[in-house]
Amino acid sequence: MKYNKNFDRLENEYIFTKIRSSASEYSNSSYPLIDLGVGDVKLPLFKKTVDAMKDACQEMACEKSFRGYPPAVGYGFLRDKIAINYQNLGTDVSADEVFITDGAKGQLGNVLELFDSNINVLFESPCYPAGAESNLLRGNNVDFCVGNEQNGFIPYPPTDISYDLIYLCSPCNPTGAVMSKKDLKIWVNYALSIGAIIVFDSAYSEFVSGDFPRSIYQIEGAKNCAIEINSFSKSLGFTGIRCGYTVIPRQLEIPQKLYKQWLGRRFNGVSYVSQRGAETFFDTEIRKAVEKRIKFYKTNVEILKIALKNLNLWYNNTVCSPYVFAKTPIGETSQEFCQKLLLSLGIVATPGSGFLRGGEGYFRLSAFCSREDALNASDRLKHLSID
Ligand code: PLP
Repeated sequence: MKYNKNFDRLENEYIFTKIRSSASEYSNSSYPLIDLGVGDVKLPLFKKTVDAMKDACQEMACEKSFRGYPPAVGYGFLRDKIAINYQNLGTDVSADEVFITDGAKGQLGNVLELFDSNINVLFESPCYPAGAESNLLRGNNVDFCVGNEQNGFIPYPPTDISYDLIYLCSPCNPTGAVMSKKDLKIWVNYALSIGAIIVFDSAYSEFVSGDFPRSIYQIEGAKNCAIEINSFSKSLGFTGIRCGYTVIPRQLEIPQKLYKQWLGRRFNGVSYVSQRGAETFFDTEIRKAVEKRIKFYKTNVEILKIALKNLNLWYNNTVCSPYVFAKTPIGETSQEFCQKLLLSLGIVATPGSGFLRGGEGYFRLSAFCSREDALNASDRLKHLSID
């Protein structure tokens, strides 16, 4: 059998699988585990969302209202609401440009099926690894445009190299960096000038506050060069339910046509129950509850930042993210430092090396946790010895 040799281009194990398994081996009763690692949401679904899903199940229990395979592009009721949400941001995204998916992660790789293999792909980095790893698996040439403390983890495009695809994420996981309209415009102009397509990961768009863009389509010209991928995972707490969406504008005529073909041939849609649940995101009461929940997670971020400040550890001081991206003490690799946090304090953190180029020397704490965990973690951090 000839296996996919491109697996050799990846680390042996996916970063978050590795973190989960080292956390599961941990046992120290004086310090029960505090999981600030993977970045999975912790608070439960909203009652109204659960009720909508119960009702959807109930419809399925009745012959007259039973539904089988969902449309591969998604149900109209959800596509319409997502489009209105985009229009409220001042963009002209319409429902037929929105495609419902089972979340963002898969789509970061699935969109590659629209393009030739062996293409040149640029990643803003450090980055969430799923997109880059999908490109490596497909045999594409992967380059990184590296952010650092000097550029606030918002790197600018190269001046002399061309790419076919460019992956951007704002607010960025792991760095928390959020691009301004001016920053994004530079990338859009670059993509337009070289004929590249941007894959814009907006999974954390609901964490955006102030004047920062929530969608790349708020930037002039973006509909001619960008695909946007979003999800209900971090807003509605749908990491376990699974529902998201991909936007491919009509201006990208061929990619949109191919994506519809891909959906029809390779995907059997997202369950009616999940889509009815996702629809509740657009309910005014739920929107307010989501906002409140995001504020809650952001308060956890501030609690963790204070603890790091007291340790004199540098962190990226942004306000649009559920993560704290901080510097490891001098002389310790990110793996070594995270291992120390786990073994001496029972705190699970993610080593920056897992976020690819530019991540070494940093670690990420997820504030998707209970208040109690944030406070306990900050208390335990006081006992950390830094040489
Ligand atoms: N994109 C980014 C930047 C993420 O951080 C994550 C999950 O942590 C995802 C995508 C995946 O989201 P989903 O749950 O929709 O697959």
